Amino acid sequence: MVTPLEKYDPQIYELIKQENVRQSGSLRLIPSENYVSKAVMLATGSCLTNKYSEGYPGKRYYEGQQVTDLIETVAIERAKKIFKAEHANVQPYSGSIANLAAYNALAEPGDTIMGLRLSSGGHITHGSKGSITSKIFNSENYPVDPESGMLDYDAIETFAVKVKPQIIISGYTAYPRMIDFKRFGEIAEKTGAYHISDIAHIAGLVASGLHPNPVPYADIVSTTTHKTLRGPRGGMLLCKKEHADRVDRAVFPGQQGGPHMHTITAVAVALAEADTIEFIEYAKQIVKNAKRLAEKLMEYGFKLVSDGTDTHLILIDLRNKGVSGKKVAKALDRARIVTNFNTLPDDPASPMNPNGLRLGTSAITTRGMKEEQMDQIALFIHTIVENIDNESVIEKVNREVLLLCSQFPVPDHFILPGEKVVHPLSNAEKRE
Ligand SMILES: *Cc1c(COP(=O)(O)O)cnc(C)c1O
Repeated sequence: MVTPLEKYDPQIYELIKQENVRQSGSLRLIPSENYVSKAVMLATGSCLTNKYSEGYPGKRYYEGQQVTDLIETVAIERAKKIFKAEHANVQPYSGSIANLAAYNALAEPGDTIMGLRLSSGGHITHGSKGSITSKIFNSENYPVDPESGMLDYDAIETFAVKVKPQIIISGYTAYPRMIDFKRFGEIAEKTGAYHISDIAHIAGLVASGLHPNPVPYADIVSTTTHKTLRGPRGGMLLCKKEHADRVDRAVFPGQQGGPHMHTITAVAVALAEADTIEFIEYAKQIVKNAKRLAEKLMEYGFKLVSDGTDTHLILIDLRNKGVSGKKVAKALDRARIVTNFNTLPDDPASPMNPNGLRLGTSAITTRGMKEEQMDQIALFIHTIVENIDNESVIEKVNREVLLLCSQFPVPDHFILPGEKVVHPLSNAEKRE
């Protein structure tokens, strides 16, 4: 089948094809990544990309909104239903800018925001040094307890009493454990702060009831739409009615122009998918898979931050293995296992070459992998770490990974027609 892309831009077509082959022929363990459904992909690539819709449904600055008003309203209503929120804004372009809008809704430049330290698993937009959030606002960071790797709520409360923040941020980018949002709400109330909860990673688990929902305990909940939630790349804000106007004004005209209507369309599709039994099954399996992978890794002598996980995410502390996170991530990538190196809570090493490795089970769960495959993957990782400089062992694991990938193809309804990927090597493996 010759697609228009193949005909009009063969160079980019070829590169997309290569990326498709890479995504289907590797174990994608980066916890922020996933495979979206064909329906989400189609909506993202639809004619809604052609439309400008500055404003909100019923209050636009451009004409021709007969359809976009309906679509955005559907997306908003679905978001409110799934997260049991009084108000939703589906326009943020992504998680980072959603956070900035949340801060701007509740604080003035120079006010203090208080989020988790970057090295402890906070997000850059939670006031880390390189982020504009630390230039606009005064940023104070709390750590996790270095011994347990867990949040120490009493210490967080003491710190909040001391720094008197305008905003306390809960929700993280590399924290494997459940978060007590209720406690954060109480700390915020006690210290007169607003509570913003950023569930970018765990939104899919929250939507399916596998992680407590912060909506009742937070002034604003911020999220991406593309991690465990498995939608298009985007952002979203949820809040109580009392903050609705402030949130909407902070997004538009506060910092954005025209919303990306194709993304909002695809967000609506993803939210409908998230409201199904199948999605709950997927979310349950994500956590089962992560727990099993964690358990097996520990059996192989890996030390995990917080000694396990309650979510989709695992953080390995490689210091007892005597090899850096970057070296392991590079070697794993040569074996088709895609991860990211990560800082650890008390890692003295530089963030460019830290001692942590971050894994997540969302994408491989979408492929249908279960506990048995987690055992295999743990063994792959163990083998690579034990043979970090042995290219022939790495090559052997590479072939085994490819075989596993061919046994768990990206499900049909997750691939566009004509894009079914056949691996030259997987055929060779089958002949063996
Ligand atoms: C991924 C992430 C974000 C940022 O999302 P982008 O869409 O990459 O801008 C924000 N907060 C947390 C906690 C994240 O994990």
